[in-house]
Formats: sequence, C-alpha cells, structure tokens
Amino acid sequence: MHTLTMKFGGTSVGTIEALRSLTEIIRQAQRRAERVAIVVSAMSGVTDLLQEGITSASEGRTTRYAEIEQTLRMRHSDVLQALAPGEASVVMAEVGGLITDFVGFCDSVSVLGEVTPRTLDYTMGLGERMSVRQVAAVLRGAGIPAQAFDSTDLIVTDDRFQDAAPLMDESRANVHAKVFPALDAGKVAVVTGFIGATRSGIATTLGRGGSDYSGAIIAACLDSDELWIWTDVPGVMSTDPRIVPEAHTIDKLTYREVTELAYFGAKVLHPKTIRPVSELGMPIRVKDTFHPDHPGTLIVPSDPDSTHPLKAVTVIRNVAAFTLEGKGMQGVPGVAGRTFDAVARAGASILVISQSSSEQSIFFVIPDRNAAQVASAIEKEFSREMARQDIDTVMYNSHYTIVTVVGSGMRDTPGVAGRLFSALGQHQINVVAIAMGSSDCSLSLAVASSQADDAIRAIHELAIRAAQPVAQ
Ligand code: ADP
Ligand code: ASP
Ligand code: MG
Repeated sequence: MHTLTMKFGGTSVGTIEALRSLTEIIRQAQRRAERVAIVVSAMSGVTDLLQEGITSASEGRTTRYAEIEQTLRMRHSDVLQALAPGEASVVMAEVGGLITDFVGFCDSVSVLGEVTPRTLDYTMGLGERMSVRQVAAVLRGAGIPAQAFDSTDLIVTDDRFQDAAPLMDESRANVHAKVFPALDAGKVAVVTGFIGATRSGIATTLGRGGSDYSGAIIAACLDSDELWIWTDVPGVMSTDPRIVPEAHTIDKLTYREVTELAYFGAKVLHPKTIRPVSELGMPIRVKDTFHPDHPGTLIVPSDPDSTHPLKAVTVIRNVAAFTLEGKGMQGVPGVAGRTFDAVARAGASILVISQSSSEQSIFFVIPDRNAAQVASAIEKEFSREMARQDIDTVMYNSHYTIVTVVGSGMRDTPGVAGRLFSALGQHQINVVAIAMGSSDCSLSLAVASSQADDAIRAIHELAIRAAQPVAQ
C-alpha cells in the first residue's frame, strides 16, 4: 500500500487561491497513493503575528494584540466562508476558541510583564492548530473526507522550548494508534506542523520554519513511501530567487547537499528535515503549489552520477566574525579548545572556523545576537593571557555575511576554487576568510555585508550557471 506524506508551507495554505490549488493537489495524490497524510503550517504571516502579539503584551502594549485578534478572525473566517460554507460556523467556533486562548495568554503576559519560552511555544503554535481545522474543512467542502490532528497529541518531544527535539519511538506509537485508523478509513489526515508536546503534555515548538521537520517526522512515523514538500517556489533553487531572479531549479540533490544548503541559510527547507528520514532512504520532492506540474527537486540519499560540482549558493546574514590574535598565542596551550568552550558556555553555536597555520590567530563566525556575550566569555577565559599580552584584545566585527557554495562534486573536481575566486576577483569582492565544510560538499566565505549580494550574484553567474549544461 502506497503512503504519501505531503507538507504544505504557510503560503500554500495562506490564501483562498492557494487552498484551491492544495485541494487539486490532494485529488491528484489520491490517484497515486492509497494513504495520504498532510502536514500543514499556519497561514502565512500568522506565526509572526502571534509572536508579535505576545511580545507586545509582555511590553505592556495592549492594543496591538487586540488588532492581531481581529486580523486572525478575519483571515480564517474569509477562507471558511468561501471554501467550506457548509460547516463554516462550526469550524470558525473552534478556530475562534484558539484565538480567544491567544488573547487570554496575552492578557496574562501583559499583567506579568514577561513572557517565558514555554508560553511563547504555546501561543506561537496556535496558528498551526487553527490551520489544520481550516484545511480539513476546506477538503471536506470539496468532497474529500479529511480529519484534523494536533501534533501535541502525536509528536512527543523533550522540553527544550523553542527548539524541541522529537522522541521518535513514542511519537511513532502515537501516530500508529491515532492516524492510521483515519487513513485506513479513507480520510486524508491533516496534521499540524511546527509543534509537539512533552511527555507531560506541555506544548513545544521545533523552531522557526520547523514544519518541514514535522513533515519528515510524520512521514517517518507513517513509514511513508515518499515525502513531498509543497512551497512557493519551484523546488530547491540555485540561490534565493529573491536575490537572483535568474536562479534555476536544481533537479536532484543529495541528503548531504540539501542539509548543508539549509544549514547555511537556504530557507526553503529546515536544516533538520533530513534527520528523521535519512535511515529510511526516503525520497523527498520539493514542489511549487502554484505550478504543480513543474517537476521540482528530487532529494535522494546519494547521487554518484552527479555531474555538477557546484549546485547552489546560500547566505547567512547578521553574523559576527571574531578574531583572536596575539604574538604569544603559540606558547599558550589549548587556545582553540578553551576558545570554543567559552563560546559554548555563552550559548552560541559556531558557523565557520578557520585557524592560521602559524597558530597566531583563530577566526570564527557566530550569529550576531550572541556576539556581546561571547566576547565577554572569551575575555574572561583569557584574562591572564591578555594581561600578559600573549593574546591581544578579542575583536569582533558584525558587518560580515557568510556566503556558502554547495555541491558534492566539489572535492573531486579540479579548478572549482579557482573558478570561484576568479568570479569574486572580477567583481572586486574581498574574501575575509574561507572554510571548507566538514562534509566536503560546501565552501564558506566571509565577506563584508555590503558586498554580500554582489558576491552571490557573481558566484551564481560565473561559477554556477556557467557550469550548467542547459540553463533552465
Ligand atoms: P514555506 O512557507 O513553504 O515553508 P519558506 O518561506 O519557509 O516557505 O521557504 C521558501 C522560500 O525560501 C522561498 O520563497 C525563497 O524565497 C526562499 N529561498 C531561499 N533560498 C532558496 C533556495 N536555494 N531555493 C529555493 N528557495 C529559497
Ligand atoms: N509556522 C511556523 C513558522 O512560521 C513553522 C513553519 O511554517 O515552518 O516558523
Ligand atoms: Mg518554511
């Protein structure tokens, strides 16, 4: 029996037009697979609104969340009236209950004057719970039997609020017990993305953009044959089409390439999406809800026949580049280890590292929001060495951007680095640091933020497009 799990992102459930397209996609899918489960995001913009509402409440601004309440009511009620008129009032009552919940939380937070990660997770996850009820009603309105599920009843997670990790065995048991009966009764299961709950039932989220990850978790728990991710662009592209309109769809990528691409900033997929399905070798397709006939991108465990050494270029903005330098550094034992321990203690994760061979300097890049804390942690760690001037002051610069080129053939293809640097040279772009990814299929460069978009365009034009046999 063929099981297909599909995930629809915020824009794919965000308008009446998108939901009409989604309905057609489900009809087609039912011809292909006996069991169809879908994982859906909140309507586009809703998670941001919920976050803004609760944050403004914590700052004592009580009018903003009242406005947001109205927007949420209107957006859902417009869709339900148009696409599920028969049960609009019943479903709107359920959705309205969730919105009332949101307002209640905002009221409490405005009194308390602070919001905890736990409260953020509960409120920010409400958008998905509104969305599943709406999408299931829209499908039923089109004559497709469908049942909504909250992942708070399915996906069991740890209690790292805002970035929770799934406990797969327990989640699988829940999905088997609760979702399979609906699928076997011929219904489409409509499951919330983004959220889960701890063993004791406290709501969590998997991190922003986490619905892709939820899609993969549900696909794995259902032993699906395939996972299809529907979004608002025709697949994974050679770069963000918002920066380079000529970006083309990549027809095939490996698990490692796509993970690297996502880790280094391509928003199209959440970086953890591959994890739940990697052992199963499940094929993933990324497709465009608004152009469903476009083949999109196929993601496979490995692709030995790949002929393109460079496939995509991605960007992470708002990073801080740290340099630790000093003439006496050679003599100081364990400088690198102590530096990275200090960074970890400050709660930051390092995106890129490079060390000069003379050991006289260490360079690394972290998200800018952690910069001040990391600087003071390092200064504390090396206070003695700094007093002796073995290590000069710790410097950081927040005006850098990481640009990463991804492609697994890079390692074995001569001349790749040359092509890349000549592209950057032609555009007078200065590369501050270079680091090869540990998986050998990415190369990251730090450049001044003011030159980042030029660097992306230059790399895309001269190194990626130039290597394409046929530009699409
Ligand atoms: P969804 O709501 O469907 O999850 P997202 O907004 O999270 O959609 O991700 C899709 C967006 O990712 C696209 O609209 C595009 O602007 C952006 N993006 C960034 N890099 C890439 C890339 N390499 N390929 C495709 N899209 C990309
Ligand atoms: N709605 C959530 C977010 O905006 C999850 C997702 O869309 O992937 O982050
Ligand atoms: Mg997304």
